[in-house]
Amino acid sequence: MFVPLSVRCIRMAMTGVLLGTLVGCASQITIRAAAPRTPETIFSPLPLPPPNAIRTQTGRPGPDYWQQRADYDIDATLDADARVVSATAVIRYYNRSPDELRYLWLHLEQNLYRPDSRGGQRGVGGSSIPNRDVNTNGMEVSFVRIGGRDVPLRVHDTVARLDLPEPLAPREGMLEIEIGWRFEVPRLGDARMGWEQTRNGTIFQIGQWYPAVCKYDDVHGWNTLPYLGQGEFYSDFGRFDVRLTVPRAHLVAATGVLMNPEEVLTAEQRVRLTRAAASPSAVIIRGLDEIGSAASRPAGAGPLTWHFVADDVRSFAWAASPAFIWDAAGITERGRVPSERDGTVALPPGTLVQSFYPVEATPLWFDNVTMLRMAVLHFGGMWGVYPYPTATNVNGVVGGMEYPMIVYCSERMNERELFEVTAHEAAHWWFPMVVNTDERRHAWFDEGFVTFMTNYAMRERRAAWFDPREWAARVADDLGRGGQPAATRSDEIDSGAYGALAYDRTAWALYCLREKVLGPQRFDDAMHEYIRTWAYKSPQPADFFRVIEDAAGCDLAWFWRGWLYEDARLDQAVVGVRQRGENATATFENRGEMVMPLEFLVRYSDGSSETRTTGVEVWYASDRCELSWATGGRRVREVIVDPGDVLPDVDRSNNRRSGG
Ligand SMILES: [Zn+2]
Repeated sequence: MFVPLSVRCIRMAMTGVLLGTLVGCASQITIRAAAPRTPETIFSPLPLPPPNAIRTQTGRPGPDYWQQRADYDIDATLDADARVVSATAVIRYYNRSPDELRYLWLHLEQNLYRPDSRGGQRGVGGSSIPNRDVNTNGMEVSFVRIGGRDVPLRVHDTVARLDLPEPLAPREGMLEIEIGWRFEVPRLGDARMGWEQTRNGTIFQIGQWYPAVCKYDDVHGWNTLPYLGQGEFYSDFGRFDVRLTVPRAHLVAATGVLMNPEEVLTAEQRVRLTRAAASPSAVIIRGLDEIGSAASRPAGAGPLTWHFVADDVRSFAWAASPAFIWDAAGITERGRVPSERDGTVALPPGTLVQSFYPVEATPLWFDNVTMLRMAVLHFGGMWGVYPYPTATNVNGVVGGMEYPMIVYCSERMNERELFEVTAHEAAHWWFPMVVNTDERRHAWFDEGFVTFMTNYAMRERRAAWFDPREWAARVADDLGRGGQPAATRSDEIDSGAYGALAYDRTAWALYCLREKVLGPQRFDDAMHEYIRTWAYKSPQPADFFRVIEDAAGCDLAWFWRGWLYEDARLDQAVVGVRQRGENATATFENRGEMVMPLEFLVRYSDGSSETRTTGVEVWYASDRCELSWATGGRRVREVIVDPGDVLPDVDRSNNRRSGG
């Protein structure tokens, strides 16, 4: 999801207020050293879980790697007037684990909006997400059957235990569950779903709306962390075959491919869609002037059923409204991607890129298909081709949220903001929609990656939209204030710091790793290896660290520890410069808890200059180091540490020193 900069900066703003006015409380925010780590140092190996035959020492899935699979056939009906969704589903659950299962756990995430939910009890300030201004009855499950027999469901807040009549056998045991449920659509459900009344009708944006089998894995067993609002979701891949029955006037956007265009679109719209699939620029499927026109919907009376199928996805979301303008364009580039289903290589025939939005979002959204297409191509070029047949953005009440093949985005006025959110959500199609990380535990593990990716897309769209100096200064302001580390568990992150930690600090860590530690080639080789290795699988943070270190060929424990697992400060200083004959010597100090390689600019009095760099090893034995180099007879005028102002150095006043 997307946390706007105004929210991402709350913590800094609050800290400033405290410093200025509440001296008595200053102990809460006094800058202090991280906890002493002797005899461990910043360079000690990380205490990672021991490797095994499931997750190996090189961070790859081992010969015994397994993951579960869940396929969903869903029939849902939207009562647009009552704003109620009623549905039935057949869930086919495949137990590929070595364990016999006597019960399953399900997520019933709509229960978050019940007035007595655990997430609701956290109250205002318990979550960074503006939410639940309207309560609902949550998910009302009408029946659960296995083998035609009713089975009891024990509901505990947003999770429910389903005891099986017969144990589910290990390794390819399969179970079919029939289930029926309904829920009222909350006006805004934790900024991830909701409805909005627009001039031409209600826009429904639906997500986290069906009973989803919790992920059972080799690390935690059943992943039953409740849905509290901040932590997102973690699930298995599967096939979704979904029929959505909505009023005839509605257009529907959803995860997957529309299987029955001849039943739900006009002949003219089908012609336009075919044209769009081959067009690099936007083709109007339904235009502004066609909204409300009966001719823009198939003739007849009564509701229509839209049928979507999606393969190899970890969730399914959809949006419906009579108010939609619909634009589309095509990406025809082909790519090679692994397929989770059968382990073979699939060749997607291309991607249909789509935007759905109301008149209120014009004129800005007339350009959104172009923005989205550019973002998908940008990320595809940098991190691996987009593997899915559709890529859709829907404008409505949801600020910014990602689901497989479909994202939601509320911005209607500001071009930069719209591009940033569009690109951010599209980047989530790589993390965690393909590389399936556990968002409910590790927000940094996808939000930080996605924010990092978005910076490069912003720069490509408009160079001025990405300013490394501004980023470094913002991250530096947030370091070492005695707060939480970036890798704090999603729901435990202080709400005001959620954006600063999971998004910005992690994104800046990856930027510095790429630009200042490994260099782009070495970083990209390693990151490509990580993505290729874990596409359609579920890596843990330890797997990521191990793959990157293995594929980049270097030890980075100091980096992960300083940036992710401690609230460490970086303060590099140059404390002395002297010159003897043809040689110059500069003395540097590392005054914070974090370490980074040294980069410094030497300016000579003849007007020439050079940039010199070291590895991080200069800090192995001491926080002080001396570096000498041949000047070729030139006089050193000045030495400047981190001359590009890219590192989050908390004190830049000691980064510059005149020659002796
Ligand atoms: Zn996000």
